[in-house]
Amino acid sequence: AAQARRKLIAGNWKMNKTVSEGLALVRELKGLVASLPGERVEVAVAPTFVSLHAVAKELEGSSVKLAGQNCHWEASGAFTGEVSAGMLKDVGCTYVILGHSERRQFFGETDETVNKRARAVLGAGLIPILCVGETLAEREAGRTLEVVERQVTGGLKGFQAAEVATFVLAYEPVWAIGTGRTATSAQAQEVHKSLRAHLAKLYDGETAERVLIQYGGSVKPDNAAELLGQPDVDGALVGGASLKAGDFAAIIKGG
Ligand code: PGA
Repeated sequence: AAQARRKLIAGNWKMNKTVSEGLALVRELKGLVASLPGERVEVAVAPTFVSLHAVAKELEGSSVKLAGQNCHWEASGAFTGEVSAGMLKDVGCTYVILGHSERRQFFGETDETVNKRARAVLGAGLIPILCVGETLAEREAGRTLEVVERQVTGGLKGFQAAEVATFVLAYEPVWAIGTGRTATSAQAQEVHKSLRAHLAKLYDGETAERVLIQYGGSVKPDNAAELLGQPDVDGALVGGASLKAGDFAAIIKGG
């Protein structure tokens, strides 16, 4: 069943790269991934909002997909500083990252607001990348599965199984993000497998088998192949290492 799922390697640029720096990065990346044999590996980049339009133009005719880093749940109107899912669709996005731990930690995202955003993302014809993950304190207290299952249940609230099947989940242990301390492949596989079992319980086995579950948190060229080799690890959400085309391409080739 694992063979039936494609792999998705997505680069989350976070608040990095000006427009010209972003263009330079995707130009280099396009060249490096053009020669990839695996059609089962899909590649995406998530620039800042201000770079999306220029990067979308640069990616025309390439297989590299575009992702937003977040979006609001309203379609338009008096919401200063926000961007809607429809706008991300219009600019050329395929995916939208939702509920990243930095959004939860610094910008007050909750399972409830993530769920509202996910509804808007699906409504716009985009694919949500729903991020979940425990803090170090939660892991040490033995609460990892309880935390990520609660985040998945809350983020997916109200969706039908057929909708859930289109989601991408990203398991990103907070203690592994930007720290250089990655989860071991066994730790990642354990959580991914549990999340899939949780989806099977909430929905059904077929839906659970269809959902892509990415791992994120200090994915680097030297640990990517091992992580991506796990049966329930369907890709990676890459932060720091996606800012260098060579490193990101090496991770993609590991997948
Ligand atoms: P990192 O970030 O690869 O820099 O740890 C991953 C993420 O936050 O998506």
